[in-house]
Amino acid sequence: MIELKDIKKVYSLGKVELEVLKGISLKVEKGEYVAIVGPSGSGKSTLMNIIGLLDKPTSGSYLLDGLEVSTLNDMQLASLRNKNIGFVFQSFNLLSKLNALENVELPMIYAKIPPKERRQRALSALERVGLSDRIYHRPNELSGGQQQRVAIARAIVMNPSFLLADEPTGNLDTASSIEIMKIFHELNKAGTTIIMVTHEQDIANHAKRIIRIRDGMIIDDAPVKNRITY
Ligand code: ATP
Ligand code: MG
Repeated sequence: MIELKDIKKVYSLGKVELEVLKGISLKVEKGEYVAIVGPSGSGKSTLMNIIGLLDKPTSGSYLLDGLEVSTLNDMQLASLRNKNIGFVFQSFNLLSKLNALENVELPMIYAKIPPKERRQRALSALERVGLSDRIYHRPNELSGGQQQRVAIARAIVMNPSFLLADEPTGNLDTASSIEIMKIFHELNKAGTTIIMVTHEQDIANHAKRIIRIRDGMIIDDAPVKNRITY
């Protein structure tokens, strides 16, 4: 479970202090599927980076499965992140010189998983996203939607409890976006907790719950009434 209490984030730029998160409190239980929605600059990515242990809050408490993360050092944070959290970004963030299979194997190299097991798990993750016939393609030989599916395979290959997606369909056409939403639906059904940032209402309606953020504060938090499912 993710439990944030009065999380604030202040950026100091010379003498100017910019308070980007102004006291965010929220709980996300295991198995939830949450969309975070809000205007550009409202603090969505900042919040996601804190939830994903890529950045630290200026103040407030963050319990991840009961563990207060501010008590952890950078190595402990990195290990917790690699084991528990998968990331998907708007810009895919694949390595251009590596093929799909090699991209998906990367997190397992960091986790020191032996080569044979690495290969097997990467193949099965690519199968889950429907890319078994593209494993030797490099990113520039894949469509945007296919690249995002490789990125999802890479994000789930360590079996994370949480999948964090920041505008996962931001660079995709409607058909590819729907493919991604179907994969998220399957992952959530299989037990992965998903938190996704989006500015598209149609995409947000795939989640079970929508949190609206404005100016670094939560202004609404409600279940989705007419959820889109497959
Ligand atoms: P978008 O929808 O455009 O992606 P966002 O809601 O994700 O916006 P953030 O990226 O969280 O917004 O940024 C929130 C505010 O924090 C912005 O005003 C931004 O300029 C500022 N900001 C973000 N990162 C930094 C940083 N490293 N240093 C200083 N200011 C930052
Ligand atoms: Mg953002």
